[in-house]
Amino acid sequence: MTTQVLLEVTDLIAGYGAIEVLHQVSLTVGRGEVVSIVGANGAGKSTLINTISGIVRPRAGSVCLSGQPLNRLAPAKISRSGVRQVPEGRRMFADLSVEDNLRLGAFGRSQKAVQSDLEMVFDLFARLRERQHQAAGTLSGGEQQMVAIGRAMMGRPQLLMLDEPSMGLAPLVTAEIFRLISRLQREMGISVLLVEQNARAALRMSDRAYVLSLGRFTISGTGQELLFDPRVQEAFLGGANVQARAA
Ligand code: ATP
Repeated sequence: MTTQVLLEVTDLIAGYGAIEVLHQVSLTVGRGEVVSIVGANGAGKSTLINTISGIVRPRAGSVCLSGQPLNRLAPAKISRSGVRQVPEGRRMFADLSVEDNLRLGAFGRSQKAVQSDLEMVFDLFARLRERQHQAAGTLSGGEQQMVAIGRAMMGRPQLLMLDEPSMGLAPLVTAEIFRLISRLQREMGISVLLVEQNARAALRMSDRAYVLSLGRFTISGTGQELLFDPRVQEAFLGGANVQARAA
């Protein structure tokens, strides 16, 4: 069965000032797929996500969602067209309640839609329902990550892009967040583009993955293929003898 392409990025070039960070990067995310991008610090992973969401303007190349070009649209329009981002570091408003943080993700939605989106997020994250009136800054790191994901879900995206969701979280909490991301794929059919330093956890849950090195994709394949690729093991999974641990 062939997967229908949702996001198609072709020959994307982007950077900052005189520096070119992404050099003709091309990737696809199919409907309902989880695709991850692994790479060293500074490889350009965040730049790629930020270029897809319009925060960084591409210098060349194209970004299409269901065949419609996004790359000339303002970030708010890209967001409304169904591409939502969970930023690195979560970016909460610490003094606002959980509910108010979630409502900030409802930009452009009608009052009725906001109420139904809130219910959908509280159904997904029961712990957020319990803590809806609590200031977001008082939550644990894992709960704050749930708020950040819930905020992105408030727009009912087709594509959810997550930048380092495991950052600063303990292994057990990371596992919980990854299970939640899998649930979004399984139960809601959301497509996911995931950027992660925690390559092992990301590859395990990914249908497909790409390795980004110095702004170029060097290796791609299914999550399983990359998990057992000696080059990936050497660079991102702690070297030899990982095959047994990865099994
Ligand atoms: P990390 O895992 O450390 O976040 P990354 O793979 O996400 O790394 P980017 O954050 O995309 O990498 O950074 C790629 C390159 O672009 C780095 O050399 C970085 O210093 C540079 N860079 C990132 N943001 C900016 C910016 N706003 N202005 C100038 N240079 C930037």
